[in-house]
Amino acid sequence: MSDKDVTEVVPADAAGIARAAQLLASGDVVAVPTETVYGLAARADSAEAVAKIYAAKGRPDFNPLIVHVRDIEQARAIADFDDRAADLAERFWPGPLTLVLPLCSNARIADAVTAGLPTIALRQPAHRVMQAVLQNLGHPLAAPSANLSEGISPTRADHVIASLGSAIPMVLDGGPCERGVESTIVALRQDGGWSLLRPGPITKESLLRILGAETETSEGTIEAPGQLSRHYSPGKPIRLGALTAEPSEFLIGFGTVHGDCNLSADGDLKEAAAALYSCLHRAALSSKPSIAIAPVPRDGVGRAINDRLARAATPSGTRSD
Ligand code: AMP
Ligand code: MG
Repeated sequence: MSDKDVTEVVPADAAGIARAAQLLASGDVVAVPTETVYGLAARADSAEAVAKIYAAKGRPDFNPLIVHVRDIEQARAIADFDDRAADLAERFWPGPLTLVLPLCSNARIADAVTAGLPTIALRQPAHRVMQAVLQNLGHPLAAPSANLSEGISPTRADHVIASLGSAIPMVLDGGPCERGVESTIVALRQDGGWSLLRPGPITKESLLRILGAETETSEGTIEAPGQLSRHYSPGKPIRLGALTAEPSEFLIGFGTVHGDCNLSADGDLKEAAAALYSCLHRAALSSKPSIAIAPVPRDGVGRAINDRLARAATPSGTRSD
């Protein structure tokens, strides 16, 4: 945080990108748009910079961070890529697919990024602004969603300000995020197995076609800390699968279920993903004390939408991010 307590919202033009890169180089945090959601970025090689992410978000420190890379060469200096990893990166990068891979022993990554795990989550983002920042900076960036832990993810600069304003020095404003839900996370294990750790815009169906059947972990352990509990919470009770609303409910519609806002009147799942967090932010701000949400099909990116809705509807308890 700089000496003033006001968070600057800066247009993501060449000058804004250069200033963001300068702040990041000096070890500060900056909120940057990606094609999924806005990320709170910091140098992944600096323990002090990464600590500022955890502090600003109030994030539990057992929850590891995704590292964003400029290109596959930068990724190969951090993690071991087997043939499957190289194939997936070739097909989907830059884009919303995060790979969890073995961490190289000589990788220059702060310990807090991996929360002590022997693996690391990596992705090359497709958004022109995040790409330009990574290019300009030359270092990989750790970047979880730019919101308070447990809160609704931000898909616009004003969502970041509403959640983190005054805790961070700068938001680069690149307009609304195109995909609107967080990246798909896939763990590739050294025994040849794989697991979908988080559904996202790259669908399970397309991963199954490429990797074959998903495999159980040998120990049956949870491999994605922070993925099982409450998350994306608007701070109000949520009722899922609603076809109509009670007078006390803000209704988020889909398709023919018309509500106070609609994820997609055409029933288009991509459009629904892009609108999801904006609708949840609106529902959170409305005067209605609770929220009802129309059913959304589970195919394609609908799996990711339903995953986020189920977590948003989980009553408070276990902390997550
Ligand atoms: P985000 O908040 O979008 O940065 O997502 C981070 C999530 O990625 C975490 O909550 C973890 O579930 C997952 N993740 C990050 N690193 C690893 C890792 N090394 N192994 C398994 N999951 C990871
Ligand atoms: Mg998050």
